[in-house]
Amino acid sequence: METRPRILTGDRPTGKLHLGHFVGSLQNRVKLQDRYECFFIIADLHTLTTRPEKDAIGTIATNAREMVLDYLAAGIDPERSTVYLQSAVPEIYELNLLFEMLVTVPRLQRLPSLKDMARSANLNEMPFGLLGYPILQSGDILLPRANLVPVGKDNEAHVELTREIARRFNYLYGEVFPVPEALIGDVPTLVGTDGKAKMSKSLNNTIYLSDDRKTVEKKVRGMYTDPNRVRADIPGTVEGNPVFVYHDVFNTRREEVRDLQERYRSGSVGDVEVKELLATALNEFLDPIRERREAFSSQKGLVDRIIYEGTLRVREEARATLAEVRKAMGLGGVWNSIRRKAEKTVKAGGV
Ligand code: ATP
Ligand code: MG
Repeated sequence: METRPRILTGDRPTGKLHLGHFVGSLQNRVKLQDRYECFFIIADLHTLTTRPEKDAIGTIATNAREMVLDYLAAGIDPERSTVYLQSAVPEIYELNLLFEMLVTVPRLQRLPSLKDMARSANLNEMPFGLLGYPILQSGDILLPRANLVPVGKDNEAHVELTREIARRFNYLYGEVFPVPEALIGDVPTLVGTDGKAKMSKSLNNTIYLSDDRKTVEKKVRGMYTDPNRVRADIPGTVEGNPVFVYHDVFNTRREEVRDLQERYRSGSVGDVEVKELLATALNEFLDPIRERREAFSSQKGLVDRIIYEGTLRVREEARATLAEVRKAMGLGGVWNSIRRKAEKTVKAGGV
């Protein structure tokens, strides 16, 4: 019997993973996969909250495969971790409905993350399903009874809601769920290449883990820096400048970073040099990830097998959790008593 505590986290299969995903959550997953039993969910039902159209659903399979390749490339070991497809686990829908009874609408309406998501999806009004996004997420987290949830800052409030749901459930029906903790990454929110608050697929300000060297160089050349610095001899601002944020996070040559910061502040280095050195550092960071991606993607059928086997494994887990949930709530008892009586009546040749 496995006794390690559990991790649950995941991503929506809306595209490839980027540097923000890496520092926000992936890095912690890789680091903790020995100490925790890990479950990584491909949250395709969550994509429906903003993109329910059939053509969007048609992109899920490809995106899911790319995303799992990103997991493997980042260092997630499929032998130790379980990767699975949310929509193929019916118990998640079921848990979602039961949890909906434990949360109020104003509680959800206060979450700024949902308004942000509605805005970036160009939705004028809040869909019911999007309001329920964090409840579905609670279903994801509590289904395998996870203890720890490595996520970026934007998801912290959702884990808080999950904690409330777990406590409320346990209070009403008895101890079934652990109360999970969020684990925020080293960089809680990575800024985008355009200087906007968050690197995000929908904002077109990303550097993908799978970008090739040339693409990275091009994206870095186009990066937003200090807008007041029109010439190299004008003192520039380092704080909050995305080029320096990335240097800080990804450049392992600390001496070089300190030197660049000093020269930037005193107006004795041009943006071109700062950016060239950043592109080099990012490419060095991404090279081993690219190599692993290449090696894994040449193994035909590997990704599908990982998702398939992971999903079967979680289905077992799901059946066990839901049996306990129904028992704790007394829901199973209602059906069992009706079934028993009906069967007796039929046996006795009654109505
Ligand atoms: P994007 O925001 O790029 O569109 P997403 O919102 O579709 O991505 P999610 O599946 O919601 O991606 O997020 C996956 C995980 O990555 C979450 O834990 C989220 O907090 C984290 N994450 C996403 N973007 C960033 C970022 N820029 N900085 C830190 N963490 C991030
Ligand atoms: Mg998000």
